[in-house]
Amino acid sequence: MVYPIVKYGDPVLETPAEPVTEFNTPELNSFLDDMFESMYAAKGVGLAAPQIGIGRRISVIDTSNGQDPAKRLVLINPEIVGQEGSQVEEEGCLSIPGFREPVKRAKRVTIRAYNAKGEQFELTGEDLLARAFQHEIDHLNGRLYISHISALKRDLIRRKIRKLAKSGEWA
Ligand SMILES: [Zn+2]
Repeated sequence: MVYPIVKYGDPVLETPAEPVTEFNTPELNSFLDDMFESMYAAKGVGLAAPQIGIGRRISVIDTSNGQDPAKRLVLINPEIVGQEGSQVEEEGCLSIPGFREPVKRAKRVTIRAYNAKGEQFELTGEDLLARAFQHEIDHLNGRLYISHISALKRDLIRRKIRKLAKSGEWA
């Protein structure tokens, strides 16, 4: 099933998510299917469980937008264990639609995570994948990309969103 995407302003997006403790269950597997379905429906390259209102440390990533099954990644309880370099690219978020800002991130990032079966793995990504790792793990820590931009730009976005909310266009 496709979940609606929670938008900025909902406290679930700014609350650290809880670790997953049970793996390889039908509930987890069907939840992961729903997460991929929801991400593709929203045309995102990554989705974190809090973005569909579930405070669990689960994220899915697919930098091919569903074109290459080998690019489908499930990250459960992920953490960054190494990073180097830097990159600045425009970044957006399904929970903050209509806005994009340049964000400085590490260029190369190694993560450690669990798959749906509960097996631990490490993976290194560069450029867009490294950016997705950082963006998604931020989500699981209750952090949004706008916390990485200047206070001035962040306030401008917040003001615009407040206006949209007032006219009922941010729900
Ligand atoms: Zn996001």
